[in-house]
Amino acid sequence: MTAVRAPQAWSVRVRGTVQGVGFRPFVHRVATGLRLDGEVRNVGGEVLIRVGGPEQAVARLIEALRAQAPAAARIGEITVTPDGAAPPPGFRVVASADTDLPQGFAGLPADLAICGDCLDELFSPADRRYRYPFINCTACGPRATIIDSLPYDRQRTAMAGFPLCPRCAAEYRDPADRRFHAEPVACPACGPRLTWRAGGRTATGEQALTVAAAAIAVGRIIAVKGLGGYQLVCDATNAAVVDRLRRRKLRPRKPFAVMVADLAAARALARVDPAAAAALGGPERPIVLLPARLGGALAPSVARGLDRIGLFLPTTALHHLLLHDLGRPLVVTSGNRADEPIAIDDAEAADRLAGIADGFLGHDRPIRARYDDSVVQVVAGSARLVRRARGYAPGALTLPVPARKPILAVGAQLKNTFALARAGQALIGPHGGDLADADSLAAFEATVAQLCRLHRCEPEVYAHDLHPDYLSTGYAQRMATPPRRVGVQHHHAHVVSCAAEHGVDGPFLGVAYDGLGFGDDGRFWGGELLLSTYTGFRRLGRFGTAPLPGGQAAVRRPARMALGYLYGGEFPVPPGPVPALLHRMPAAEQALIRRMIERGVHCPPASSAGRFLDAAASLLGVRDDAGYEGEAAILLEAAAHRAGGRPEPLPWRITRIGGLWVYDWSGTLGALLERGAAGESADDLAAAIHRTVIEVTVALCTRAAERTGVRTVCLSGGCLQNRILATGLSDALSAAGLTALLNRQVPAGDGGISYGQAVIAAARLAGDG
Ligand SMILES: [Zn+2]
Ligand SMILES: [Zn+2]
Repeated sequence: MTAVRAPQAWSVRVRGTVQGVGFRPFVHRVATGLRLDGEVRNVGGEVLIRVGGPEQAVARLIEALRAQAPAAARIGEITVTPDGAAPPPGFRVVASADTDLPQGFAGLPADLAICGDCLDELFSPADRRYRYPFINCTACGPRATIIDSLPYDRQRTAMAGFPLCPRCAAEYRDPADRRFHAEPVACPACGPRLTWRAGGRTATGEQALTVAAAAIAVGRIIAVKGLGGYQLVCDATNAAVVDRLRRRKLRPRKPFAVMVADLAAARALARVDPAAAAALGGPERPIVLLPARLGGALAPSVARGLDRIGLFLPTTALHHLLLHDLGRPLVVTSGNRADEPIAIDDAEAADRLAGIADGFLGHDRPIRARYDDSVVQVVAGSARLVRRARGYAPGALTLPVPARKPILAVGAQLKNTFALARAGQALIGPHGGDLADADSLAAFEATVAQLCRLHRCEPEVYAHDLHPDYLSTGYAQRMATPPRRVGVQHHHAHVVSCAAEHGVDGPFLGVAYDGLGFGDDGRFWGGELLLSTYTGFRRLGRFGTAPLPGGQAAVRRPARMALGYLYGGEFPVPPGPVPALLHRMPAAEQALIRRMIERGVHCPPASSAGRFLDAAASLLGVRDDAGYEGEAAILLEAAAHRAGGRPEPLPWRITRIGGLWVYDWSGTLGALLERGAAGESADDLAAAIHRTVIEVTVALCTRAAERTGVRTVCLSGGCLQNRILATGLSDALSAAGLTALLNRQVPAGDGGISYGQAVIAAARLAGDG
């Protein structure tokens, strides 16, 4: 007689992004398919499975957890431990209890784009959700933008006002159903409805959609209520309406993002490599910056003068329906004027967008939090965040040093984000735009308050930039005094954001290239080489300085910056041919600026890589005025991409000043002017200047590595969003035997500053013992 082995039981703990992504129903499906007994529940930010049955079947379940997980899930560590008693027969999904609230920042999932199953139903005439714009399931739909409080359950979301109809309720309660505990589940019988308003006319439901699509088709601009805010939408192939949108939105040149129906439509407009295709189709559904195809169908003013275009695929069913019905690419851009915060409230949107939109396609599901669209680009083979918002925020990143007290890092001024740090995690809030005025500061404060309230997190320490005029700095000053307030140098935060993402251990070299940041000597920095740890840094090198004639006025007008380098820089540019710029620029303006430089009036010096590239762009005739932040440098990069062949660097020199290695750019600019006057193309010279900056940087880093023995280089700052610099530096530093690291999950630009500040504040708290 063979002994019958008693059924065995195990506890399986799954870490990663496993809540709010349909993970429990998925486990239920697999477990019941394998005839296993037990239960699955959310505990803290993790999923806990108790399972009993034959060992082989349990092994297959564990295999499936990784291999067949829902698209939006990210499986981290899986730990399996034997568990004494066998569970009762059957497999159950256990609902969340209030006591299951996580310690870190889990439990508040980001919004997810519509999944393949829901998309199939959306376009199946027999389905009861055929053409229903608010279709969703546990694998997709709104999350962060509808949550009132945690844990994440329907009655604590913006869906509380929509009682489930019997059929939706049955799906919601059935553990075997794809919509089991899909908190925003809805159908035409019980869920939100579309509305259309234009002038005095209104329409609802399918008719609202028809009228809105017809308006777009005849060249109107409409406001669409999206997931995390209103969007402005128009026909991207119609030059007249795109120009009108630019005028009304007060956005003369900054490129617009374009939404296309699918990957095939994206490929008609841009070159899409596999990494970009994966980013386009991912559940985060970001705007992806792609190399544009010449002769595409888009109106030229969508992204004039640029070799790239920002494309994205439909996020929600509503977007899919519009794209499907119109059969053409659409401009889809934030619902705001110029730099105002994106509108989320219906009344506010109606008021603010009245002069921009010809009609409003809205609905009756409220938006609880402001989430703009995210932007990524593929650099050195990886998708990297340029703007971290919908789909990514408010996801948490690991802290290399746990925070001993809750920290709020308030970020910088431009492209602001904030970070909340607690225990081993830092939650990065969504991109909030430029903190330029009272409105944007109010939006910042509202988002901070909302996320603090959701996570029951009371910041005890505030980390901020050293710049005294940043509105974020002012906020931190109002909230706390030292030692509860920690000032963090801008470029230190940049390079630490990169090091912390990669979990760098020990000291590292930091290259921070950006427009401007406040140095710890009270001067403007921006072309910096640092020897850094998570707590502090020592400056090892920098770019040579030049004055900013008129401060911010020089940022807006690179031509002024060029005069700064020519007449007031740290190094004299050798005499040569008269720069063409001097023929273009009004004589009175030239005289004024030269007087300012000579007398040192309102001419703060800056050691900035970004301003240096701005000046080069103006000297090459690429751009004298910046229509938006960084425009001249972006156009300089586009010009360099047009150049063929491998560019030779221009002359450069590194000199020693005040114990620092300093890039002396006088030979570089002298050669630039001379060769430009001799007829060499601006495109070739733009490529040459990029090459020069790469060589200078490698020379600075190898010297620093020899001196310090530190061989890891963390590259960050807005200039590292320049693909030529990021890839060129990464390759050249590796070739020189150094390890080069770039940001990935947080932007290299100022959107990544808050994470760096949070890491530094946490590390300093730990150091205080
Ligand atoms: Zn779905
Ligand atoms: Zn229903």
